[in-house]
Amino acid sequence: LPVLEVDEVTGAYGRGARMRQVLAPTTFALHAGESVAVVGPSGAGKSTLADIVLGLRAPASGAVRVQGEAWVEPTRQPVRVQRRLVQGVPQDPAASFVPRWTIRISIAQAVRRLTGVRDADEAILRAAGLAHLETTLLDHRPAQLSGGQAQRAAIARALAVGPQVLVADEPTSALDPETANSVSQALLASAAEAGAGLLIVTHDPHLAQRCTRTVTIAPPQHNS
Ligand code: ADP
Ligand code: ADP
Repeated sequence: LPVLEVDEVTGAYGRGARMRQVLAPTTFALHAGESVAVVGPSGAGKSTLADIVLGLRAPASGAVRVQGEAWVEPTRQPVRVQRRLVQGVPQDPAASFVPRWTIRISIAQAVRRLTGVRDADEAILRAAGLAHLETTLLDHRPAQLSGGQAQRAAIARALAVGPQVLVADEPTSALDPETANSVSQALLASAAEAGAGLLIVTHDPHLAQRCTRTVTIAPPQHNS
């Protein structure tokens, strides 16, 4: 059973006569340990697809299933039965952590909220190891981390809650090429090792090449 099925999913903004399709019908499946690179021109709807898979918005049509179960359904509020199963690595990770909290506290909070587990120490150390995040950095605040370290911290936070699917939207676009390369490597390796499926939106052909598969999103045809 695939961890993620995206079945004829489309995206749209607005409603009625003002509705505009921004994601052409997209279909693919992702198995545990696999990675899929989502590529396509700017404005094709790649971020829209990432948000739909994250459960942050509903598709206009089609279905998303996580481990065979409906995840988000057209035109309804996203049904996120088990929110922990799909986790995101945001584009601006430093801004996704609470500024006054240490990374450790932010991750512990995410684990507690999404899994109910109160003692997250073991999960945090394991996730930091997977993400190649130095454990001393767990006691830093987000502003004290470099861009690459903040990305690793966000990967660790995502993995600490035990997701089946990891979604990264342009995870390395704000990093210099060398840091981007090592963060991408850590992302691919850690998702595979954790047994999660990885969906990466990327413009980087080298990163796309290292994924199991590439899904190319074509811009939708507008009839305005
Ligand atoms: P990509 O990630 O491939 O560049 P996006 O998913 O970000 O594409 O955007 C697809 C289209 O949807 C673009 O034309 C964009 O302007 C439009 N769009 C994005 N967000 C919104 C929004 N909140 N409201 C209306 N249109 C939006
Ligand atoms: P809540 O609204 O329940 O407090 P958060 O905004 O803290 O939820 O997000 C919880 C998790 O959802 C984050 O740890 C991250 O994995 C994921 N997430 C939320 N928004 C995004 C986003 N825009 N891009 C990627 N991941 C996201």
